Amino acid sequence: MNENVIEIEARHALGKSGMKELDYAFNPYLGCFHGCRYCYAIDMSPDAVRENWGTKIIVRPNIIELLEREARIYRKGVVGISTITDPYQYIEMKYRIIPAAIEILSRNGFYVTIQTKSPMVLKDIAILEKNKKNLDVGITVTSLKPEVSRMVEPYAPAPAKRLDALKKLSHSGINTWLYLGPLIQNVNDDLDGIEKIVEFCGENRIRIIYDSFQDFSGTLPYMAGTGYIRSDQRWWNSMDNNIKSICGKYGVSCTLERDEWKYELSRKYGKLF
Ligand code: SF4
Repeated sequence: MNENVIEIEARHALGKSGMKELDYAFNPYLGCFHGCRYCYAIDMSPDAVRENWGTKIIVRPNIIELLEREARIYRKGVVGISTITDPYQYIEMKYRIIPAAIEILSRNGFYVTIQTKSPMVLKDIAILEKNKKNLDVGITVTSLKPEVSRMVEPYAPAPAKRLDALKKLSHSGINTWLYLGPLIQNVNDDLDGIEKIVEFCGENRIRIIYDSFQDFSGTLPYMAGTGYIRSDQRWWNSMDNNIKSICGKYGVSCTLERDEWKYELSRKYGKLF
């Protein structure tokens, strides 16, 4: 038994999401072995997870049983997999909750949106391709520089592997996006690096969603020592303009995360309902 993995019995599979673009959140895990220092989920995690961020998680193994029932009776909508954890952290190889969830949700008429940092998502490429009309997949890239990634997301897969996975997904006809962020002042805000990411997206027909770092209180002890500067509005206004302009140069569609709900509403609800 792995003492860093605590199994608990879930009471619900689909929860309310705080994100406007989602109707439901599906989180089989609480906490995340990728251990990103900037993760907003630190603030939302139980003490045992928060105090051991990146090394202890909670798993809800009965969540698929619950999902079978809820997917039949809940109002149809958009489900985020996962919103406060990474669905493809290494422990998913043992539990294999995500492919079952995609199948159940798709079969019952839900739209699924998946966000990860792991190329392990490719293990499910057959299921993703089969259901591609009703899902999208996003992979987060904060920086192409391995040393920056290692500093702020110490146990997450290398950026190059994430790009390879995105490319394969996009070339399989799956609706694919890259989450560029969080952008942190003095850590990953170099425009040359951002331009390389945007260029990659342009070459591979991948949309970008981007946003800045929000320094929730739980992140502060973990962010200490990264050299980050608390972002100010002038810095962000300039970043925002630069990102839009670089995306324009490479013909890449880009949306600020907090405006994503408008994009999703017109695209998904228009088609589904
Ligand atoms: S991969 Fe996502 S959920 Fe996991 S620690 Fe990093 S930001 Fe948080």
